[in-house]
Amino acid sequence: MSVLTVQLERREMGFVELSREALAGYAEALGLAWGALGVGPGDRVVIYDHGSSPVAYLASQAFAPYLERGAAEHTGATAVCVDGLADNVGRLVHVLRHFKPHFLFARAELIPLLLSGPTAVPVGQRAARLVVSADGDTPARGERALWEGRWRGGLSLLARCDAAAFLAAECPRCRALRVPEDLYETQISGPEGRGLLTVRPRFVDIGPTTTELTVSPAVRGTRCAHGGFELV
Ligand SMILES: [Zn+2]
Repeated sequence: MSVLTVQLERREMGFVELSREALAGYAEALGLAWGALGVGPGDRVVIYDHGSSPVAYLASQAFAPYLERGAAEHTGATAVCVDGLADNVGRLVHVLRHFKPHFLFARAELIPLLLSGPTAVPVGQRAARLVVSADGDTPARGERALWEGRWRGGLSLLARCDAAAFLAAECPRCRALRVPEDLYETQISGPEGRGLLTVRPRFVDIGPTTTELTVSPAVRGTRCAHGGFELV
């Protein structure tokens, strides 16, 4: 039985229905992604995203009561979620100033607004690691280098394919995408560095879904040369 139906952002009138078991698997994927990014017990995490984004609605049982455990409970971190509308980016500066997060999750399309113009986050507030959450659209290589040079805490990618209930983070050191193999079957095709990812989740009955995303150097397991990660 579905306990949550979420409208997909990238497919008009597309919905994903999630049972309690599916939500648990999806939230575990986000928890593993947080762990891969280095989020651990006691860390503070700010999420600047829409309520329909799994980055927000799977983050914590504290603001999503249908979740038994969100990513915050899986990692021992504390999360604050702020509305992700571009018009409200200015509000984020105040949240960063008062909460002093170790990690900031934001949507790829908002990053230019966070870096320049009247809504730019002051340099002193950029000590958090910035995690770019992207469903399909991933930053181009040159764009990414620009952002990394200007965001003091560094930048990581959280790959999403909401239509397939897929979430995976890259290792902050080697940038291998760490895909939890007990949660997803995946195949990648295409040239090295940019390919088509075909994914099928094991925890919810959704057929294989293909999405284009930047993968560098390749999809790997939950372990890379820099170690694995565990849920608490
Ligand atoms: Zn690594």
